[in-house]
Amino acid sequence: MPEHEPPCRCLLTGHQPDLARLVAEYVDSLPEEQKAPETVRQARLVRCLQCENLADGTCRLCGCYVEARAARRNQRCPALPPLWTACGPENHAFN
Ligand code: SF4
Repeated sequence: MPEHEPPCRCLLTGHQPDLARLVAEYVDSLPEEQKAPETVRQARLVRCLQCENLADGTCRLCGCYVEARAARRNQRCPALPPLWTACGPENHAFN
């Protein structure tokens, strides 16, 4: 990515393939019990894509790659109030 371009409100996937591949490998390596269900992960990423804090796949509030953060069941959005919440064992959202 050229340095002079402003950050985009985008995920790594489709924009930074090498980093996206590393994050995908990280997500694949998580124990199944720590992974958020795919539907939850996708819903979280939809919120991130609408968020002004998303910059080049990274959350400006926490510094995480959002595709990695959204993949973990017990993570939550760092905004106050959070734009998405942790996911319990029965896939209920925790607030
Ligand atoms: S503040 Fe929350 S919704 Fe916004 S980019 Fe960060 S994790 Fe995603």
